[in-house]
Amino acid sequence: MKTLILGAGYAGLAAATKLKPIPEMETLMVEQNAFHTFETRLHEAAAHNTPVTLPLAPLLRGTGVHLEQASVESVNLDEKEVKLKDGRVLTYDTLVVGLGSVTNFYRIPGLAENAAELKQLSDADDIFNFVNRVYADGYQGHRDIVVGGAGLTGVELVTELAQRAEQLSKERGLPPFKIHLVEAGPKILPVLDDALRAKAQQTLEEYGINILIGHRLMQATADSVTVQTQDGEQKVIPAGKIIWTGGIQARDIVAGERLEKGPGGRIAVDAELRAKNYPDVFIIGDMGLALNQEGKPVPTTAQHAGQQGRLTGKNLMRLARGEALVAYEPNSLGEFVSLGGLMAVGWMKLPWNQKLAITGGLAHVMKRASEWRWRISID
Ligand SMILES: Cc1cc2nc3c(=O)[nH]c(=O)nc-3n(C[C@H](O)[C@H](O)[C@H](O)COP(=O)(O)OP(=O)(O)OC[C@H]3O[C@@H](n4cnc5c(N)ncnc54)[C@H](O)[C@@H]3O)c2cc1C
Repeated sequence: MKTLILGAGYAGLAAATKLKPIPEMETLMVEQNAFHTFETRLHEAAAHNTPVTLPLAPLLRGTGVHLEQASVESVNLDEKEVKLKDGRVLTYDTLVVGLGSVTNFYRIPGLAENAAELKQLSDADDIFNFVNRVYADGYQGHRDIVVGGAGLTGVELVTELAQRAEQLSKERGLPPFKIHLVEAGPKILPVLDDALRAKAQQTLEEYGINILIGHRLMQATADSVTVQTQDGEQKVIPAGKIIWTGGIQARDIVAGERLEKGPGGRIAVDAELRAKNYPDVFIIGDMGLALNQEGKPVPTTAQHAGQQGRLTGKNLMRLARGEALVAYEPNSLGEFVSLGGLMAVGWMKLPWNQKLAITGGLAHVMKRASEWRWRISID
């Protein structure tokens, strides 16, 4: 069975590391980077230059998976072909697609052209370099940062940046830059319950972050954003850096006449995570539209991408041995949001579907534990 795994993110890497070398299977992983990125820690890299990547080759040892560092241009499910940017064309018997998501700029005028994102290491480097420039001797430009989107990524980023600003201000004797967090919706962190959200909001306020909820980002230029309140009042906020974390959509790289797509361009999959009408193709992670036990879309998170990848890896082994596939059952174990330093808020799942809310240092430890669980699972 000739198998291609596209993408070494949380989904693709989890699938690959569940494989064992067997004669029935020949597997190639195609990934544009020579490393896996801990995307859930990119905000730390953006603020503190924390290392957030791991070389792939050692992780794939003992799996029988060969690594091809190359960029995928397009996937044609009807022709069963994967075209690479260098012009080569790969074919397969079984395909696993885990190429993740891209930022959705919602066609807001000037946003895609002027805003940074936080989706890959180079984005984090770009933000880190800006912060350093702001504190360099002779810096003349705008110092303030506008972050659009107060979901998980936006909130984790602003708290980490505020901490870095405090640290640099102390070291260099300069005032900290101002951080504006712009959110069109009525609240920050809509996925959390009210008590946890209140705690997170209080932490942001203590950092001096200007929280602008109910403010729609209308337009961006190279050095400002225009926001509008629900009453239609507009204001212009000057900024040295604009960062958009307000939405994602599935990477649009897979074509097929019988492909079914849902919200955010996610590809509809069956109970075993195979693209509907294409039983040889597994779509996992942010690109797939897997459903939970209540028939609702599974959230686009690393936690679920990892679970889908692990199941798919095991299903590939079953397929190669001619055994029946096992259906996907998502399991939300909890969710933690880091708020800079040792502060975090979140919840963990208890038996009988109860949730335990946790804040402070313990929540930080829980967040770190989930990162370590991931690290251990791919070893
Ligand atoms: C700052 C931040 C914080 C987050 N925090 C959390 C959190 O706390 N908890 C949580 O559960 N989730 C979190 N998420 C979401 C989580 O990171 C994603 O849901 C997860 O990464 C999706 O996994 P994936 O495997 O589908 O895609 P990815 O992890 O994005 O992997 C896609 C892979 O495909 C590769 N690739 C892409 N295009 C090509 C191409 N054309 N050719 C070859 N290779 C390609 C990429 O290099 C990448 O390795 C966070 C996201 C961000 C950005």
